[in-house]
Amino acid sequence: MPIRILGDPVLRAPTKPVEVFDRRLRGLRDDMIETMYDAPGVGLAGPQVGISQRLFVFDDGETGPVFMANPQLVDGQGSQLEEEGCLSIPGPYHVTERFSRITCRGQDVEGSPFEMTGEALLARIFQHETDHLDGMLYIDRLDDDGRRAVLAELRRIELSLEEGPPPKRRLMRRAES
Ligand code: ZN
Repeated sequence: MPIRILGDPVLRAPTKPVEVFDRRLRGLRDDMIETMYDAPGVGLAGPQVGISQRLFVFDDGETGPVFMANPQLVDGQGSQLEEEGCLSIPGPYHVTERFSRITCRGQDVEGSPFEMTGEALLARIFQHETDHLDGMLYIDRLDDDGRRAVLAELRRIELSLEEGPPPKRRLMRRAES
């Protein structure tokens, strides 16, 4: 599935709860997981592939691929400062403050409720993906200087893609989701 990039209005549009848990939803889950791995990323939310519904997929490297619908964040604790990136803002990363531990409650692809508690990267993914469902991007959580730095780097990357050979693919896998 094509990944929607900053500037696409679907990234800012309100999302609807998932109410139908059918074969079509399972197909969407499979397509989104494939798209996430292909990117590669550690998470992918509905709006990033043009689906204005409250759902996302993730794999922090330990959980394996997980689909969650209608997520709700509860019991956020502590804080962490790590670099964060987004497949919809391709290239830049910026230190972003998040809860260091948080529980995410939602439904699986059959509609059954489940919850997971994440720390470190997994906690970050839960917060990043849930933000996507509220039309929010990580740059919205930065101060003005941080946001400007990300947008300037994004612009530099776009220009270098237009002008020269593509930059070496980043091998290190970070929290792009
Ligand atoms: Zn993202």
